[in-house]
Amino acid sequence: MTKFADLNLNPKVLKAIEEAGYETPTPIQADAIPHALGGKDVLGIAQTGTGKTASFTLPMITKLARGRARARMPRSLVLCPTRELAAQVAENFDTYSKHVKLTKALLIGGVSFKEQDVLIDKGVDVLIATPGRLLDHFERGKLLLTGIEIMVVDEADRMLDMGFIPDIERIFSLTPFTRQTLFFSATMAPEIERITNTFLSAPARIEVARQATASETIEQGAVVFKPSRRDRESTEKRAVLRALIEAEGEACSNAIIFCNRKVDVDVVAKSLKKHGYDAAPIHGDLDQSQRTRTLDGFRAGTIRLLIASDVAARGLDIPAVSHVFNFDVPSHAEDYVHRIGRTGRAGRSGKAFTICTPRDEKYFESVEKLLQKEIPRLDNPVAKPAPAAKDETPAQDSETPQPKASDSAEPQREKSRSSGKSSRGRKSLDRGADKPSRRSDRGGQDSNVVGMGDHMPEFIALSFEERRAS
Ligand code: AMP
Repeated sequence: MTKFADLNLNPKVLKAIEEAGYETPTPIQADAIPHALGGKDVLGIAQTGTGKTASFTLPMITKLARGRARARMPRSLVLCPTRELAAQVAENFDTYSKHVKLTKALLIGGVSFKEQDVLIDKGVDVLIATPGRLLDHFERGKLLLTGIEIMVVDEADRMLDMGFIPDIERIFSLTPFTRQTLFFSATMAPEIERITNTFLSAPARIEVARQATASETIEQGAVVFKPSRRDRESTEKRAVLRALIEAEGEACSNAIIFCNRKVDVDVVAKSLKKHGYDAAPIHGDLDQSQRTRTLDGFRAGTIRLLIASDVAARGLDIPAVSHVFNFDVPSHAEDYVHRIGRTGRAGRSGKAFTICTPRDEKYFESVEKLLQKEIPRLDNPVAKPAPAAKDETPAQDSETPQPKASDSAEPQREKSRSSGKSSRGRKSLDRGADKPSRRSDRGGQDSNVVGMGDHMPEFIALSFEERRAS
């Protein structure tokens, strides 16, 4: 097995690695470091959690230790899709270069241009930036990219999702042709392939196993249900989420709750707070100081539930998360692996629960296909509702917990029966134990209203709370 000492890294870097407590290089480090030190371009197909950050920072520090920074002309550039990831890469540099004299600047939104300009003016060895902010600096005429010897693109597939590819192409064209490029992506979409063909020169291609295969310590489960009505989907999903959290009790010491959309991140966070949970949102629209505060609170344990979008959570290194909840099934199956990989780290056990409604069905199938296994179905933890009246007007999407029928999520019973599509001869996504008989288990709550013919007056469908409020 390769040892760090075999990799020709600077002895001061080796010392820092030892102090960080790393014993052996991860596969991507063992493969990529010799190529990077040898001056070759590297195409790393790897996800967070594989040790990919050190696979480029360690050789960069070793190479940059020889030579000096020049004013306004950084010697290396690392591009990251999000501020958090950029900040984390910067932390990695600090850890591994603590015995080497290197200067660095972090160019991310939310930090004043002035502070960053001062650093650039003095000269930096390493510039770590998000693409937009880097181009802002460039356009202000304060920065030259013609001194770049090594350029890293981290999480290129995420850049693609975020629409950064034109910026990346522009940045490539502003750096010297002779630069060395280290390029990382979890997947190789055609657009990514095109960029690597254009800007990398005979790269060493290194692919490491998906984290999906390494997630044996994570217990997974999914609540598949059909909302009682389309306009109540979000409310009912939140009720399911709360019930799942409650069912876990103290075992759920902290959790990340993932939503596909930023707007849901905010709504879910607000709703949980309203229901008395220590919860806070994190997504790209929040300002940097707020995000840092939230993350610090989560790490320190003062915030129990972090509600996040995929982009914001990418690259966050939070060591001990007991639970992950997917409020939605992610639209990219790889994101499921990223999400659940936030728990069960370093041999600890963890639990990951997913809420799936009919609109998530095709994404759920792709997740199971990627994992090559079925995710166990769980009973819907929310009490079974009485059916909504036929002519009921749409209720408000109120956050107040109400004991009325339509506030609970209805387990899915008829799901997919009509669609008939199945990837592995499956009849329905909800083939778990959640198949109560149609009426017998509702404690008689939904017995027909008698004595009024077919018509049920609207007020009967309203709860006490609603009547009081009105
Ligand atoms: P990354 O894939 O770069 O996000 O790294 C994931 C985590 O693995 C980080 O917390 C690193 O500190 C840690 N790590 C990186 N390399 C090693 C190693 N060789 N041994 C143990 N942990 C490592």
